[in-house]
This record gives sequence, C-alpha cells and structure tokens, in this order.
Amino acid sequence: MTTEHRNASSWIADRTLAFDSSGIRKVFALAATMKNPINLSIGQPDYDVPAEIRRSACEAIESGKNMYSPTQGIAPLIDKLKAEVASKYPSEDRDLFISSGTSGGLVLAMLSMVNPGDEVIVFDPYFVMYVPLIQLVGGVPVLIDTYPDFRIDVNKVRDAITPKTKMVLFNSPSNPTGVTATLDEIRGIAELCLEKGIALLSDEIYSPFHFGSPMVSPAKFNPQTIVIDGFSKSYAMTGWRLGYVHGPREIIQTMIKLQQYTFVCAPTPLQHASLAAMDYDMTAFYKNYESKRDRIVDGLRGYYEFVEPGGAFYIFPKVPSGGAGKGVSTASEFVAKAIANELLVIPGNIFSKRDTHFRISFAASDETLDRGIAVLRKLARD
Ligand code: PMP
Repeated sequence: MTTEHRNASSWIADRTLAFDSSGIRKVFALAATMKNPINLSIGQPDYDVPAEIRRSACEAIESGKNMYSPTQGIAPLIDKLKAEVASKYPSEDRDLFISSGTSGGLVLAMLSMVNPGDEVIVFDPYFVMYVPLIQLVGGVPVLIDTYPDFRIDVNKVRDAITPKTKMVLFNSPSNPTGVTATLDEIRGIAELCLEKGIALLSDEIYSPFHFGSPMVSPAKFNPQTIVIDGFSKSYAMTGWRLGYVHGPREIIQTMIKLQQYTFVCAPTPLQHASLAAMDYDMTAFYKNYESKRDRIVDGLRGYYEFVEPGGAFYIFPKVPSGGAGKGVSTASEFVAKAIANELLVIPGNIFSKRDTHFRISFAASDETLDRGIAVLRKLARD
C-alpha cells in the first residue's frame, strides 16, 4: 500500500463502516458481464416514460426552466399534489414538499427525526436502504421478522416498543416481497403509533401498483403519518429523481430546512414535466403489471413456495428443498446456480437477516419472464 492510500483510508468516517455497498449493485455489475442474461433483478418498470411526458421535459429545458427551484419545489406541482393528498387524507396540519427521489425523502426523514441511540422498527425483509440509513444517523434498527407469510403482527410491534423507540418504518406494497398489508394491519399499526406517540414513516412508492383495490395509507387512520412517495416507479422515471413527502407541518418544514443544505431542490425542469405526468393516465401500465404478476405466479405454482404478491413488481419465493436447492444452505448459493444458468435474481440476505428466499422482479417483458420461469422450473426440478 502506498503512503497516499494509507492516508486516504484513514479519512473515511466511522459512520460509513457499519454497512457494505448494496449487494444489488454487485448483481448489476455481474449482469453487465453476461452475454444474454435473463434479468429479473431490476427494481424499475420495463416501460419508458410516455412520449408526451418526455416532450414536456424537453420543452421545460428548451424554455429555460433550468435554474434552482424553490427548496420545497415548484408551486404548481406542490399545489396539485396537495390537492390530491387532501382529497384522500384531509388534515389542516398536513404539509408537502418535493424531494430528490423517494430516497432523498428517506434521508431527510431520518436526519430530521432520528437522534443517535433512537430505535427505529423495521419489518424484515426490508428495502435495502432502510438499515444503512438508520445507522448513518446513529439510530438503532430493530428488526421484526415477518417470515413466512410476511404479515404485520401488531402485537409483535407492541412488544418491540421501548422508551427509545422513535419511529416505525412501514412499506406496502413491499420491496422485496410484493406483499400488501391488509386494512386491519394498516389500521393496527397506524393506531398503535398514535397511541404510543411514535412517528410512523410510510414508504408508498409502489402505491399505484396495488392490484385489485386502491392502496389505503396509514395516514387515513393516523393523521401524523409521514408519507414518502414519488414518481420513479409509477412513471418509470427512476433517473429523474423526483419524490415527495407529506406529513405534519413541523416535520415537513424541518425536512425542507435540511433540503436547503443538502439536495437544494429536486431537478427543476423535471418538476415541470411531472405536472404533465400527473395528467397522464397510466392505468393500462399498472393493469399490465397485474397480468405479469399472474404470469409469474402461474409459472412458479407447484415449483416454489411463495406468498402471492398483491402489489409492486416483486415476488419472494423460498429456495426449494429439491432440485438446485438440494444441499444448498443459503439463497446466495442458490442464486449462484441461477446465475450459472444466465438468470439474474437477488438473494434474500440483501434485504434480510435471513438468507432463505430470493427476489424476482417481474418488471420485464413477457418473453423474458417466460425464459426466467423456464429456468426456475428447471432449477426446482433437476
Ligand atoms: N423505497 C422503496 C421501497 C424502493 O423500492 C425504492 C426504489 N427501489 C425507493 C424507495 C427509492 O426510490 P427513488 O429514490 O427512485 O424514488
């Protein structure tokens, strides 16, 4: 090691050492080296942003909407989102701002509410970012195991609450399981947080991908719920970095204060374009994902154990005991076998303390899904 290298590594802050870089990125890097992978690992829609919305983005740039926006976002977008939110969850005290992606909203929520030593309750399996973000601000993740059915047991949450509990982090439809919480679970968790005076942070980025019935937010039962939502998945604009957060005025104002010193604002021209997005009817895209859900469920039934997803675009099967699962003790080993067959999926330990399941994203063409199903059947059988 050269002297320069030794110096540079000693500058790295302790807070970064609690976690590793996301294992999902490692799978993506592997995909880049494969010739014709069957890629069911990606957490974003396989359709593009509709042409009209893309044109609005170009027009916004061409017409000079390229400078900083107000920290909280452009007024017409905020007003439009506020009206939508107020029609569902009326509250005098609810404020809203535009964040740099849902991820930006999550970062600011943690910075705004979690003190070092505060406990944050997270349901395992969880979205990859949750645990590192809590650790980054010095919080303590308290994991509640939801295997094997991925249901939320409100009594388990009640038992996990201590005087140090600051927040419950809730995500439905869920990444990585695709499971949607029932109305009773949503009401139960919302009312428990209200009763205990604990912040409830609800990540609703997959809310339009809620099959069969519209998603109900815990904000319906707990007006203090902080809701994180965004445009990434619903409009297939993950690269545009647009999210929004609504919740109690004081919390939102604190998050805006921090946005001033961190992200500054969400991308201005794309905020303008997302006004056009909100007028665009995406229902057909979501319906199409419901049929993809049916396709994968039908394809894997009888071969794998899984909970049928009610939303998002993920399914989280258990590694089979026979076939390629025989003699395999972890999902990571099973995924290595899938990768040897050109199939990219994500092992469960990326999202969980356990390494027994694996995540399939069904946000792919029907042809890719069918190729993936064929390999998965072979792996379960051989
Ligand atoms: N929350 C969940 C549950 C997610 O799956 C994702 C994206 N994979 C995000 C938040 C972040 O989305 P973005 O920052 O693109 O809005």
